Amino acid sequence: MSKSYDAIVIGAGVIGCAIAFEMAKSGKRVLGIEKNAVAGSGSTGNSCAIIRTHYSTLDGAALAKSNYPYWENWADYVGAEPGATLARYREVGCLYTCFEENNYGIKLEEIANTIGIPYEVWTPSKMRDRLSIINPGHFHPAKTVDDPEFGLQTGEMRYVLFFPKAGFISDPMLATQNLQSAATRHGAEFIMGQRVEEIFKEGGRVTGIALEDGREFHSSVVINASGPHSYKINDMAGVSEGMNIKTKALRVEVAHVPSPDGFDFERNGYICSDADIGGYWRPEVGNKILIGSEEPECDPLEWVDPDDYNTDVTEQARLQAMRGAQRFPSMGVPNSVQGIADLYDASDDWIPIYDCSDLGGFYMAIGTSGNQFKNAPVVGMMMNALVDYVEGGADHDKEPLEYPLPNMDYVLNMRFCSRKREINSESSFSVVG
Ligand SMILES: Cc1cc2nc3c(=O)[nH]c(=O)nc-3n(C[C@H](O)[C@H](O)[C@H](O)COP(=O)(O)OP(=O)(O)OC[C@H]3O[C@@H](n4cnc5c(N)ncnc54)[C@H](O)[C@@H]3O)c2cc1C
Repeated sequence: MSKSYDAIVIGAGVIGCAIAFEMAKSGKRVLGIEKNAVAGSGSTGNSCAIIRTHYSTLDGAALAKSNYPYWENWADYVGAEPGATLARYREVGCLYTCFEENNYGIKLEEIANTIGIPYEVWTPSKMRDRLSIINPGHFHPAKTVDDPEFGLQTGEMRYVLFFPKAGFISDPMLATQNLQSAATRHGAEFIMGQRVEEIFKEGGRVTGIALEDGREFHSSVVINASGPHSYKINDMAGVSEGMNIKTKALRVEVAHVPSPDGFDFERNGYICSDADIGGYWRPEVGNKILIGSEEPECDPLEWVDPDDYNTDVTEQARLQAMRGAQRFPSMGVPNSVQGIADLYDASDDWIPIYDCSDLGGFYMAIGTSGNQFKNAPVVGMMMNALVDYVEGGADHDKEPLEYPLPNMDYVLNMRFCSRKREINSESSFSVVG
C-alpha cells in the first residue's frame, strides 16, 4: 500500500529542497521527487549563484534582502551537524554600471534608500583604484562581434553603484544538498532518479502523482518546483490555461575565462551587473572570471525544449568573453572559450511565480528566470505559509497572502508573484529581474 504525505514536491533543485525543508520544519510529512540521481543537478547546478540585493522592483529587492542573512549564516540556517560539508558564501560586493540608457541607476538608488540597502557611488577613478585592470569605458549598446562598431568606446561611465552586501556561492549543488539533508533531518523523504509522469485529480483537486516506475503516491498538496520543466508539469496538471503569466525554457551560456596574467581576480575581483556591455561577471575559484549575459537586444533569445537542447558551449560564450574583454582589456580570450550551457525557467516578465493554481491543492514555485537562487530560503518559507493559507480556506487569488518578510520590516503582497498578475512593467525584462 502506498504511503500518503501532507505534500509532494516535484523537483529537488534549490527551490524544491528549500520548500521541502521549510515544510518539514513546520511538521508536515513531505515527499520530494527528483528525476536526476542527485539534488541540485538540474539548472541549479550550473547557476552562477550570485547573492545580491539590487532588483528593478521594490518587492524583488526586498525579497532578496530578506534572504541575505541566511547565506551569511548558512550553517545556522540549515542547522548542520558539526563537521558537515557546507556551501560557503563569499562576500565580495557587486557593482552596477550606470549610463544614460539605464537612467544612471536612479531607480535602484531609490529602492536601496527605501529599504535600507547599503551602497556607494564610485567614480571611474575610484573604480581604477579598487580594480586596477578595469576599463570604466562606456560601450552601450552591446553589439555582436561582426558589427563594425563592436568595442567602440564612446566615453567613460559617469559612475557605478557599489553594493557591498553581495557575493556568491561557488558550489550551488552543495548548497542544495545541504537543504536536502536539512529537510531529511526534519523527516522529509526523497525519491531520486524517478520522473513524475502523471498527476492525479479528482473533483477539482489534486490527489497525487505517479512515477515512471509505476509507483503512485497520494497527497492533497502537490508543488511544482521542476525548474525549466515547469510548463510541462503545469500542462500535466492541466493548470496552464488559468495562468496569465507563462514560463518557457531559455537556453543560456556562461563563459569561464582565465583572469588576466598577474592579477588575482578570484581574490580581488568583484561581481558586476554590467548592462553597459550586455552582461554580468563574477570571480570564480581557479582564478577565473565568469561572464554571463544580460540579454542585450542584439542577441536572439533561444527558447528550447528542456528535454532536447544543446548542452555544449558555442560562439555565444566567446561573444560574452569578448564583451568582457572590453571591460578587462588585458584579459586574453582563448580561441576555445570554456563555460557552461544551461536553462532558465523564464517567465514572461522575468519575475517568478510563487502561487497556487486553478486546481485545488496544486501549487507552483516556478519562473525563476535566472535570478532566484538567492531567494530559495524565503521562497521555502513563503510557499509553506501559502499552503497553510489556501488549505485553511483563504482565496489567495482574491485576497493575496500578505507575507511579512523575515529579517526586515516589509510585508510582501504575494500578488507580486501571482500567475494571474499583469506583466510587471517595472521589470528589467532580463536576468536582473
Ligand atoms: C547559468 C545560470 C546562472 C544563474 N545565475 C544565478 C545567479 O547568479 N543568482 C541567482 O540568484 N540565480 C541564478 N540563476 C537562477 C537560479 O539558479 C535558478 O533560479 C534556480 O536554481 C532554480 O532552481 P529550481 O529548483 O527551480 O530549478 P532546478 O534546479 O532546475 O530544479 C528543478 C528540478 O526538477 C527536476 N524535474 C523536472 N521535471 C521533473 C519530473 N517530471 N519529475 C521529477 N523531477 C523533475 C529537474 O531534474 C531538476 O533537478 C542562474 C541560473 C542559470 C541556469
